[in-house]
Amino acid sequence: MTTISIRDVHADAVEMTLQSLQAYWSQHQHHAVAWSGGKDSTALLTLLIHLIDVGLLPQPDRLHVFYADTRQELPPIQMAAEQIMARLRQRNWITVHVVRAPLDKRFLVYILGRGVPPPNNNTLRWCTRQIKVEPMAQALQGVIEGVEGTALMLTGVRQGESAIRDGRIAMSCSKDGAECGQGWYQQVLPEAKGVRGKIATLAPLLHWRVCTIWDWLKVWAPMPEFGGWPTQILADAYGGDDAKEINARTGCIGCPLASRDAALETIVEMPAWAHLRPLLELKPLYRWMREPKQRLRKAGLERLKSGAIGKNPQRMGPLTLEARETALARILDIQARAQVDLINTEELARIRELIAAKTFPNKWAGDEPRADTWMDSIYSDGSVQPLLFRDLIAPTTVTPDLIRGPASSEQSA
Ligand code: SF4
Repeated sequence: MTTISIRDVHADAVEMTLQSLQAYWSQHQHHAVAWSGGKDSTALLTLLIHLIDVGLLPQPDRLHVFYADTRQELPPIQMAAEQIMARLRQRNWITVHVVRAPLDKRFLVYILGRGVPPPNNNTLRWCTRQIKVEPMAQALQGVIEGVEGTALMLTGVRQGESAIRDGRIAMSCSKDGAECGQGWYQQVLPEAKGVRGKIATLAPLLHWRVCTIWDWLKVWAPMPEFGGWPTQILADAYGGDDAKEINARTGCIGCPLASRDAALETIVEMPAWAHLRPLLELKPLYRWMREPKQRLRKAGLERLKSGAIGKNPQRMGPLTLEARETALARILDIQARAQVDLINTEELARIRELIAAKTFPNKWAGDEPRADTWMDSIYSDGSVQPLLFRDLIAPTTVTPDLIRGPASSEQSA
């Protein structure tokens, strides 16, 4: 029988976490965890359950664990998540909610079927909200709506050493090594329709350092006295024994917003995961899809539904149908070689259906010129800068309509 107690594990960090949980736990009637499957939220989840198991926190009537399945996770992360979910389901006081975006809004269906280009860091970061926030918010709303009392939603957000002991913890979006989507939850969920004012969020690992996270996941959590969690597999996804130093972020495979796919680059060097090497082709493919040649462009100014003129003349928009066909074929080939399931049968059928129906995002008809077409430049005040050397390049030029519209006010590409 071991004499190790939870307080021996990074004593100060765990003690502070416990204090923060004890301070808020009993103020709420419902308890939930937002779990991405990444290292921070997995550390939170497994530690929380251990604290309940050993009686340091009261066992709630029900603990709701919300897992956002984007369908784009790295296989080792997904595998660890499935094993952890199996363990969670052995406890009859825990309900695991696996939440996914509706079919048409899933990452690859939205890109290939509807034609919205892969997200980027500047103007088009639609993904986090659509494939993580909204499905999670809806699931939570379903649980909380109509029941008495308030809910405490725990997140794995970390901000390094700056712990805040008292009062509501202020949180912001994490970067550099953090899991994607950690920062969103606080902003969005409290605004969800029907649950406003009913949810408080708490980040009890706010002060944890990355080494504390790894020591918990690799050393302590797998020990029987701390729950025997299958968390070591997560270390593979983050760089094996060098995980601490690599400090990779995880999220969708080939995430177009990350400068490098460090987690994927690391795991494909391991014999057990070498078959995933074709997935390295996804990131360049997403970059290719954002190029003008693969997209449409507004020819001139746009008249909005309000009657006003849009401020962004000749903006680039959705993917052409041809680019989508090409990208679909490439992704199907990549997933076959990597033996993974990026697009399943249902998603493939829907993508083909949407392409066949010539589906484009709102405000786009599909008859706009390709974005690499030479055109006179039109400025937002309506002035026109004619093309130089028009005669030389005339066969591929378009003389744009000055104003087109009105258009719908819904989301555009
Ligand atoms: S991992 Fe990247 S692509 Fe996936 S939701 Fe996050 S930012 Fe978007």
